[in-house]
Amino acid sequence: MEIIRIPRIMQDRAGGYRLHAKSIGFVPTMGALHEGHMSLVRTARAENDIVVASIFVNPLQFGPSEDFSLYPRDFEGDAQELRNAGVDILFSPDAPLMYPKGFATSIAVEGLSERLCGAYRPGHFRGVATVVTKLLNITNPHRAYFGQKDFQQTVIIRRVVKDLDMAVEIVVCPTVGEEDGLAMSSRNRYLSEAERKAAAVIYRSLSEASGAIQSGIIKSERLRDLMGGILRSEPLVSHVQYCSVYDPETLDEIDRADRECLLAVAVIIGKTRLIDNMRARPRR
Ligand code: AMP
Repeated sequence: MEIIRIPRIMQDRAGGYRLHAKSIGFVPTMGALHEGHMSLVRTARAENDIVVASIFVNPLQFGPSEDFSLYPRDFEGDAQELRNAGVDILFSPDAPLMYPKGFATSIAVEGLSERLCGAYRPGHFRGVATVVTKLLNITNPHRAYFGQKDFQQTVIIRRVVKDLDMAVEIVVCPTVGEEDGLAMSSRNRYLSEAERKAAAVIYRSLSEASGAIQSGIIKSERLRDLMGGILRSEPLVSHVQYCSVYDPETLDEIDRADRECLLAVAVIIGKTRLIDNMRARPRR
């Protein structure tokens, strides 16, 4: 596995592969890799000639009071995992090469970026859309792989790709959970043992709501009450930022879950913000 730190070199390498008609699959990450990331890598490995993974903790997508400096980093361990998984290139640029002096352009996706997590993390999705656009321009992949766990991110990236006529296929892979259903996340490392146990309540609330939809309860108000009740019954959940029912394409909150919908949750446990979501539909 080659490790590349300089965007221009990565771009030239991708150009070379394209010249030789090799398909490129790209998996962007912020490192501290877990099975969720590795499932994206495995899918990319199966579907492409060349797999490029990136590790870049993007300062642009963290708010001033967020965990940028604390964010878990384990470059050597991550590199070994990616090597074992058959990744061809690990692209891990230094921040000054991504955002040199004078950097002034950003990608803002109106509307979609203000909902759900966007309401609690102003500027977050502008940072995400900007870095992903840059990473796609640098690695020039045929396909790029993202996790359903960050559902809003996938909707926003698809929008950017469509609106800016980018010739890349966005592939969304299922969320990988722990045994009790908790979605794997680099931030799970922040949780104490008790908080980690309590965090299972997120998956439980989504599963219960999904089950309720299947059994004919489709009024979103009732589903919100159901999810909120379960989440608030856990004393270590200090804040429920949102738990509701959304249109999976527009991310608008919907009144009735009478078609394919998205259940999504964001909570604070201890000092850690955790999110998850689930697609659901009523039984016909
Ligand atoms: P991150 O390193 O958190 O920026 O995540 C990098 C990619 O991995 C994103 O596309 C995430 O959606 C995806 N990802 C993170 N956690 C999971 C998970 N538990 N299951 C599947 N994909 C995930």
